[in-house]
Amino acid sequence: MSWFKREDNEIVNDSEKTVRTEGLWIRCSDCGKILFKAELEANQQVCWHCGHHFRIDARTRIENLLEPGYELVDLELRSTDPLNFTDLKPYKRRLAEAQAKTGLNDAIVNAVGQLGPHSVVLSVMEYAFIGGSMGAVVGETIARAVDRSLATRHPLIIVAASGGARMMEGIASLMQLAKISAGLARMDDAKIPYISVMTDPTTGGVTASFAMLGDLNIAEPGALIGFAGPRVIEQTIRQKLPEGFQRSEFLLEHGFLDAIVPRKEMKEYLSQTLSWMGA
Ligand SMILES: [Zn+2]
Repeated sequence: MSWFKREDNEIVNDSEKTVRTEGLWIRCSDCGKILFKAELEANQQVCWHCGHHFRIDARTRIENLLEPGYELVDLELRSTDPLNFTDLKPYKRRLAEAQAKTGLNDAIVNAVGQLGPHSVVLSVMEYAFIGGSMGAVVGETIARAVDRSLATRHPLIIVAASGGARMMEGIASLMQLAKISAGLARMDDAKIPYISVMTDPTTGGVTASFAMLGDLNIAEPGALIGFAGPRVIEQTIRQKLPEGFQRSEFLLEHGFLDAIVPRKEMKEYLSQTLSWMGA
């Protein structure tokens, strides 16, 4: 491992180290240990020293959960920028940049396929696309996943990763909360299972609607889950929040979650749960 070699008594400065190791190694944001990226990838982006779950993209998530041969669906929707919104940057440009960065049209991917022995509809949010925020396209895509479940009676799994509603779409964004919730109520009437998987972070309007409406609400370890973020709450109530507030473990302890499931056990857990639910 030549990049660790040093000349006798010569101390390599930090910037030099960064350049030499860039792209191959990453520092765990939890335990601070240096991890080999390829090994981290093979370990489903979970630190083997401390169990920290790094964020993963939607397509990797789908790969991890479904058997080969799954199909990506509902890919054709695109935002129209209904408010012609401009903040620091025009919304249209922000969308174009996010599309180029992620290769997706918006912050969501729907897939249909097999999870173990079960045919499922899987909807996965993409945090790298404008913070996984939910506008009309994300809402409509999830609504279509619900419709697919209703039409086929296959269980629905939604993996949330979101900063909440997309402010650049204003009320069109907020409407999605009601639309998806109404769809999930229809699934409930039809007795089709819906499992919500919350990952880091799941906040705002997503937590306030479908993420907390599962027949089973589960989360990955250490995920930030809440409505308003901890900084906003602290600034509003002018109090320090308790240790671990809004993390999965805190929510499980206080009855907001049914289980915390490590990423590497997620597929098996979902499969067993769906069997148990009679799906
Ligand atoms: Zn770690």
